[in-house]
Amino acid sequence: MRKKWLMGNWKMNGDAAKLAEFSEYFSAYTGAGAEFSFAVPFVYLALGNFLKGDLIWGAQDLSEHPSGAYTGEISAAMLKELGVKYVIVGHSERRQYHQETNELVARKAQMAKASGLTPVICVGETLADREAGKTESIIQAQLAAVLELEKGEIFQNAILAYEPVWAIGTGLSASPDQIETVHRFLRNQLKACHAGIAEKTRIVYGGSLKSANADSVFALENVDGGLVGGASLIKEEFLAILKAVGK
Ligand code: PEP
Repeated sequence: MRKKWLMGNWKMNGDAAKLAEFSEYFSAYTGAGAEFSFAVPFVYLALGNFLKGDLIWGAQDLSEHPSGAYTGEISAAMLKELGVKYVIVGHSERRQYHQETNELVARKAQMAKASGLTPVICVGETLADREAGKTESIIQAQLAAVLELEKGEIFQNAILAYEPVWAIGTGLSASPDQIETVHRFLRNQLKACHAGIAEKTRIVYGGSLKSANADSVFALENVDGGLVGGASLIKEEFLAILKAVGK
């Protein structure tokens, strides 16, 4: 049985007051039916440790390198030191604005795993990809780069997030049918590489998730939770999504 999972991705939003407010508000829910966390900007990860409650914090990125002359980068060891559990890799905004390739994303996932962090590996197609009928081939290539490492062993401890680029921050969620089709495809890809991990890997959906569509998304057979951007900045809205995923 895969435990449901939910992450809020604050992106480059929020401030110390918001962090304190969320920490207080959500500390009452740490025993909910689903595991949940917030991926906050790096600077707030340190601050999170001093706040009330036992929230699980996630990072939004990490360096592929262990240490060294990489100005502006953050290492896996630094995240570990702060008690971070999850780290997003390959978010479409990193792929798009920072030219992250499938191979780089795979190396970041590997670095996370080797350091004891759980990578949240994002895959997803653009609208142009989908309209050109390339959804599966794009996602397959993104996933294959990761699976090639250690013959899929990385999924002994990783989350796979399907995030159609056209649904991120647009208010336009993928339909339940579109979501289940891709999630089933991803699980089959995992199965083909490593049967043992396919059934236990959590595959979560992200893209304009909100309380209004959460029930229909989380009811899908191959959806094990969600990655929430915009709605994770409104505590009542995130709580409603958390309640939906934990049902
Ligand atoms: C995201 O950025 O991971 C995301 C899913 O954003 P939103 O929920 O705002 O579409």
